[in-house]
Amino acid sequence: MPTALPVVGWCGRVGYDSESAGEVVLIDIDHILERNRGWAERQIRADPDLFRLLAKGQQPEMLWIGCSDSRVSPNLIMDLPPGDVFVHRNVANLVVPSDPSLLSVLQFAVEVLGVRRVVVCGHYGCAGVAAFLKGDPGGPAGDWLDNLHPVMRAYRSDLAGLNGDHLAQRLSELSVVDQVRKVAATAIVRDAWDAGADLEIHGLVYRIDNGRLRPLCRRTAGGALVLDSGRRQ
Ligand SMILES: [Zn+2]
Repeated sequence: MPTALPVVGWCGRVGYDSESAGEVVLIDIDHILERNRGWAERQIRADPDLFRLLAKGQQPEMLWIGCSDSRVSPNLIMDLPPGDVFVHRNVANLVVPSDPSLLSVLQFAVEVLGVRRVVVCGHYGCAGVAAFLKGDPGGPAGDWLDNLHPVMRAYRSDLAGLNGDHLAQRLSELSVVDQVRKVAATAIVRDAWDAGADLEIHGLVYRIDNGRLRPLCRRTAGGALVLDSGRRQ
């Protein structure tokens, strides 16, 4: 039986693993390589054909647009194997229509891979949202997070009277709805729908404190954006 490796982290930030009796070490590249070797061997034991099939190509049915947060790894939290999710991540899971990186990913996902689901996933406890609410952090991060200003303006009445964690949580939810709307408005998605593609866009929010995803809204071809409450917008 392989011995479980201790939980490790960068920069002295360490975790706890009951199997290793709380042993913690600062991660280095040798540990990464060792863990990778163990992971690859476990995958082959579980499915001897996995890597051979993956090497032939990818056919993911989903594009995930999520936050860069280290605690919100899409394949892990959806319990899906390699090859099932095409991924784009950035700070605060923002869809900026002028962002060539996101548009390239969206174009490849929709036009080449033919994904049938686009998921925009936000999460509570987002450092990007918190930094925005605290005030402009400056630099590239400040410029990037300025993209939350239109969300604040668009949902001013929904956010009125909220502060602290309640404001951050509600802004995270409403931002997801806004980003879903922006994905639906791209020429890439509109052209796909015009061509008859069976493409749905879903907005989700993730709770880091219990590991659960919750649906917020969805948008289908030719339809209005439908909130999870059933309300149409
Ligand atoms: Zn985040």
